[in-house]
Amino acid sequence: MMMKQKLDLLIIGGGASGLSAAVTAVSMGVKKIAILERLPRTGKKILATGNGRCNLSHENITALDYQGSYDVTEILSRFGDAESFFRNLGLYCRTDEQGRMYPYSMSANAVLDALRLACAEIPELCNETAMDLYFKNSAWHVRTESGQEFVSRFVIFSAGGTVQPKFGTDGSAWKMLEKSGIPVIKSRPVLCPVLSDNKILKPLKGLRVKGSVNLYYQGKIIQSETGEIQFTEQALSGICIFNLSGSINHQFSEYQISVNLFPELEISEIVSRIYSCQAVRYGCSCEEMLSGLMQKSLARAVLKQIRIKADMPCSQLADLQIRQLAGICHDFRFPVLGFVKEQAQATAGGVAGKALDENLQVKNHDGLFITGEAVDVHAPCGGYQLHWAWASGYVAGKYIAERLVS
Ligand SMILES: Cc1cc2nc3c(=O)[nH]c(=O)nc-3n(C[C@H](O)[C@H](O)[C@H](O)COP(=O)(O)OP(=O)(O)OC[C@H]3O[C@@H](n4cnc5c(N)ncnc54)[C@H](O)[C@@H]3O)c2cc1C
Repeated sequence: MMMKQKLDLLIIGGGASGLSAAVTAVSMGVKKIAILERLPRTGKKILATGNGRCNLSHENITALDYQGSYDVTEILSRFGDAESFFRNLGLYCRTDEQGRMYPYSMSANAVLDALRLACAEIPELCNETAMDLYFKNSAWHVRTESGQEFVSRFVIFSAGGTVQPKFGTDGSAWKMLEKSGIPVIKSRPVLCPVLSDNKILKPLKGLRVKGSVNLYYQGKIIQSETGEIQFTEQALSGICIFNLSGSINHQFSEYQISVNLFPELEISEIVSRIYSCQAVRYGCSCEEMLSGLMQKSLARAVLKQIRIKADMPCSQLADLQIRQLAGICHDFRFPVLGFVKEQAQATAGGVAGKALDENLQVKNHDGLFITGEAVDVHAPCGGYQLHWAWASGYVAGKYIAERLVS
């Protein structure tokens, strides 16, 4: 029979928030800690973030950047800034012109090294999947798939969200919380491409354009973003679309995405540019005429939207059709049909805000804390997700250390 290991703090999940909690608790003198990690090593997802560069925070973060049912204001202010957090771990950071913060070396490895060096004395129990979690005799008990058992005064549940199973996060860990009666808000993928009508998208496949996008919900604009829009055969992609995905709920038919191909121009200016191209290229086809304004595949798709043949002589375009063309360039509508979950970077949903106190401890579950993506909190691209992971891990780890060490 396997012995039960007795601990002060057990961390379930060695990702961003779990490692942040671990380095914080150990730096404050907590001794009997262990990290349970289902993958062969900790921090695998961190290495993939920011295309291997780890966009670890943003220089202008406020609580308003976050959505979800937990109010992050106090956690963010108790954490302070990520630059100081990492400086204390011996890692310098740099910020780009858009305010995104990276490790100075621009390598995600440096971030993981900083965390792992700071908690080198903590046992990392890898290839161990936590399966059961229950409270008995004034302590938390955790059993793993391999049959190991742990008893700990405090447990931090930092097992991440429900997307990206290759990084250990498939949502199965959330079942432990649900079994303990903790309210969990149904998850959905966020920061991902948005599926749309394949008939509209097919001719646009492979295209990248700079523009702006508006998300419509029940006919009203609820979010606007600017940036590069990428078109695939099935989906709209790019950071601006990833950011819109965070505001899309499951009733997809209520949403539409509008792409403005000329955000810097008034519609009347687009009309006059089309007239001017028509005058110069009078003998050309509509597609050839529009190539003075946009890529040919885009021109074909725009023409198709108003049922004009690409090879029709542009001299035959009526005034109404020119106004319609300008209208599509300004407001090219795409229905929302779903998410490309496999490419999602984060999860919306998780432990409901009302179930957690100001230290991220589950109410009526003394000693159990939830951090990172497992909390119902999500944010746009740009370092906000990781900032929340560091901040939530730090606050939970510090609070537990204060209770244990005092
Ligand atoms: C490709 C990609 C790029 C990204 N880029 C950025 C970026 O540049 N900037 C940014 O801010 N955010 C980025 N994110 C999002 C960010 O990585 C996550 O929001 C963040 O890592 C969440 O931290 P976490 O601690 O909650 O969970 P995770 O970091 O996901 O860690 C959870 C850990 O728990 C382990 N685990 C799960 N279940 C169990 C179990 N039952 N027992 C034991 N262990 C378990 C998992 O294996 C995993 O190691 C990116 C995400 C992806 C997928």
